[in-house]
Amino acid sequence: MTAPEGCDLLIRNATVVTGETVLHDGWVAVRGDRIVGVGSGEAAAWQAERVIDGEGGLLHPGYVDGHYHLGLHLLRGILPDVPDDQPIGPFGRWLSALTPEDELVSARTAAAEAALAGFTGIVEAGSAFDTDAMAEGVTGVGLRVTLAAPMIWDRPGPEPLTGKIDRAPCDSDHALRHLGDELHRNAEDGLARGHVAYYGTGSSSEEVMAEAARLAREAGVPMHAHQNFTPADAAAEKERYGRDAIVHMAEAGLIGPETVFTHMNVLSDAEVEAVVETGMALVWHPANAAYYGILAQARSRFPELARRGVDIGFGTDVAKTWGFGDLGFAAFLTMRAAGEDVSPETLLKIFTTGGARAMGLSDTGRIAVGQRADIVLRRADLPEAMPEGDPLKHLTLTLRTKGVRHSFCAGRQIVEDGALVRADVKEIGAAARATARGLAERADLKLPERAAP
Ligand SMILES: [Zn+2]
Repeated sequence: MTAPEGCDLLIRNATVVTGETVLHDGWVAVRGDRIVGVGSGEAAAWQAERVIDGEGGLLHPGYVDGHYHLGLHLLRGILPDVPDDQPIGPFGRWLSALTPEDELVSARTAAAEAALAGFTGIVEAGSAFDTDAMAEGVTGVGLRVTLAAPMIWDRPGPEPLTGKIDRAPCDSDHALRHLGDELHRNAEDGLARGHVAYYGTGSSSEEVMAEAARLAREAGVPMHAHQNFTPADAAAEKERYGRDAIVHMAEAGLIGPETVFTHMNVLSDAEVEAVVETGMALVWHPANAAYYGILAQARSRFPELARRGVDIGFGTDVAKTWGFGDLGFAAFLTMRAAGEDVSPETLLKIFTTGGARAMGLSDTGRIAVGQRADIVLRRADLPEAMPEGDPLKHLTLTLRTKGVRHSFCAGRQIVEDGALVRADVKEIGAAARATARGLAERADLKLPERAAP
């Protein structure tokens, strides 16, 4: 018999959801920032520095949010439960008022929520002004983040925020100069990475879109943008190009496998074909699409796109009445309302490998040898997980954000026994309250007051 091999961490006696299968009485071995072994039964081949008894709980790849405006996180308590007539007003004023310190507190609060809900990574949605502060906010809690230069746009038009934020000039020279600002982060394999983004296709010239695609292809990183949010957006784009926007962009070489478009709520049959053929990836916002009533105006094509093998991640976008981890449930129910099915297997893929694709990581999102050690272990003693039944259904639809016991990102522990390891949630809460108050005042927004019942 060969001598046991050394590893840093062994989690045994867990229900391991690998992404391909479920291993009962399973185990995972981690060395450094990578998974070095996966199996079920006795893990006799491993001599671990630390052994954790999973007590039968679910162990799964860390979730990745594919599109989140970190700087708007503290707006959650202020935004109305029903969109008002001018939903852009508070966003523009808030973004204009943000200081680097506000951005740090906002990002740290978002990261804390995400970590405790089973997430290990967040894609910032191209609206971080002080990207160093944002990176510090997220990586300080221990999660991964990828960032891009903020508010890249050069075409005043249908995008309502364009030209309304003084420090985000609507200008081609500015856009072309700053598109690749965050790529320097990829020189080392740290928790904070960089990608390329322009804000949206409606607010970008084809010159900016082409340069963004070129830069992303050259650097091997994702290229993100907002697209096809409402039927009116899709119609404006169709008028601009004289044909469906996605079809035009595919034929003009403006989109390809590097492209990650967010929203995509309104797609024609020809656009669905173009998405599949280009090999691009998408970020789905089922809660946002429902919040703005878009599902009543356009049939979502996401269930079909998922069946056809398009890589899709979930995007929390701006947390209004939902948070990280709620979107599987939101997708399932909103699609059921339309007579469509999205299976727990598909939801898991969206939370894990789909999010990792949006982040630009192909070696993240599964429990397998060689993958990054971004791992979440859930408690087995939650009533929601009883009886055991279908582990994937429990995980994606019933447990959702609940029951995160331990969590690791790049092999480093970020949650232990349900509490943050690298940050103090009470301190985060105090800073979040003070920061939101200051921001609301400067942005001339009212903090909500509810009368006592
Ligand atoms: Zn967005």
